[in-house]
Order: sequence, then structure tokens, then C-alpha cells
Amino acid sequence: MNSDKPSRLILCLFLFQTLSLYAVEKSVPQQITPFAETLTQISTINSLMAGNFDSAFTFGELKHYGDFGIGTFNSLDGEMIALDGKIYQARVDGKIYSTPDSAKTPFSTVTFFEPDEKFPVTGFSLEELKKFLNDKINTNFFYAIRIDGDFNYVKTRSVTSQKPYPPLVDAVKKQVIFEKKDVRGTLVGIYCPDFMNGLNVPGYHFHFLSDDRSFGGHVLEAKVNHATATIDKTPAFNMLLPADFSPGGSKKGDIDRVEKEPTAR
Ligand SMILES: [Zn+2]
Repeated sequence: MNSDKPSRLILCLFLFQTLSLYAVEKSVPQQITPFAETLTQISTINSLMAGNFDSAFTFGELKHYGDFGIGTFNSLDGEMIALDGKIYQARVDGKIYSTPDSAKTPFSTVTFFEPDEKFPVTGFSLEELKKFLNDKINTNFFYAIRIDGDFNYVKTRSVTSQKPYPPLVDAVKKQVIFEKKDVRGTLVGIYCPDFMNGLNVPGYHFHFLSDDRSFGGHVLEAKVNHATATIDKTPAFNMLLPADFSPGGSKKGDIDRVEKEPTAR
């Protein structure tokens, strides 16, 4: 009798099963995240600048393209923060709302956050943080950046608008500013190279969300106490234009006027 036969058969079955499981596992991440390592944006900053504050894109659709990012809502109704797969809305009443998948966005930028490198960051202002990051990244590529930790100070703003929509430079003149000391949370950032001028915001663009989800918005100023900066280099770019897309446009310096501190104008 050859007692080796059944065990060989079992071994073959085991190998077959292992190999097929491996094949399935290998294909799964690509099926779940077809847009991994890809920055996806809805519309363009120049279109938003021109007052195109409504689109038919839902946040449910946006979630197919990322779990991390920033943007705004139809009617320019607040600042959008996408963090760990959830979409938050920082409105002009100073409160943070969770966003239903049916809500819509005229302009958003997202990616699936996959950490590449981490750095401790301590004692930086927002400008110092940007200079620090400039030495860590290749400024010709897209990056998703998250800074998690304790902040001495964060100053945010939120906006809203009503029809007929004005250009964004006029809409942000009515921005509401919020300040918080000693707050724990996350700076959610996107870096775009200079060649993206007109399409997205060149340089760093940060929104903030506190750990207790009570405070956030578009960041005007911050002071990092102790935090960790995590960067995700993103070599691919995907742009989705709404059906009624209008390219708009902006004058030199307008993007700075809508993104930065009002006193810096
Ligand atoms: Zn913003």
C-alpha cells in the first residue's frame, strides 16, 4: 500500500487553495480602490472663482475617489473636510455637521490616503510648517498631508452664499472667522504644484477638524504644539467636470485673496 498518496493529494489541495486565496487577496485592493495613488478633483478652482457654486456631483459619488480631502458644498455652504472616509461640513454657525451621501459639491479634491512618510512636528506656525514640508516633498508632485496632534492655536473660516452667486472673491468678504486655543485635531491638507494654477490651489491648502468634531474649517492660521505630519505622494491626477461645467477664470492674486488671511490682502 502506498500511504503517501492521500497526504500528497491533501498537500496539492492545500497548495491549490493557498494559491487561489493569494490570487483573490492580491486583486482585492485594486477592486476596492481603483483610484489609489490618484488625486481626484471635481471641477476647477477657476470655475469656483467665477461663482459656479452648484453641481450635480454627490458626496456619495465623491467617496468612490477618496477617503481624505477638502472642498466645499453647493451654495458654498461651508468648508468640507473628508477624513478617514467620513465627510464633515464646517458651516458659518461654527458647528460641524456630518454629510449625507446625497449632498452635493461644486469643488472638491480627494484621494485615498496611504501614508508614505511620517515626521514629528513641534512649535511651528502655519508658514513654518509649509517651509518644513517644502524640504520633505517633491514640489512637482501632488501630496495629501495630514498633521495629527495638539495645536496651541487654530484660526479657521467658513463661508456661505446665496443666489445670484457673486464671484468667490466677493463671497469670502462675508466669511466668518473662528479661533480655538489648545485644541487636538487634524490638519487635512492637499499640496498642488504651481503648474496647477487655475485648476486647483497651487501650494498648500489646509482644512482643520478637531478630534471631538466640534471645531473646524478652512485654515487661516495655526500653531502646532506637538503633532505628527504624514505625507502621501500622489503621482496620478483625475479631473471630473460637471455636465454644465463653465471654466470661469480668475485674476492674478485672486486665489490668494480667497485662501489666505484677510489682513494679508
Ligand atoms: Zn479651503
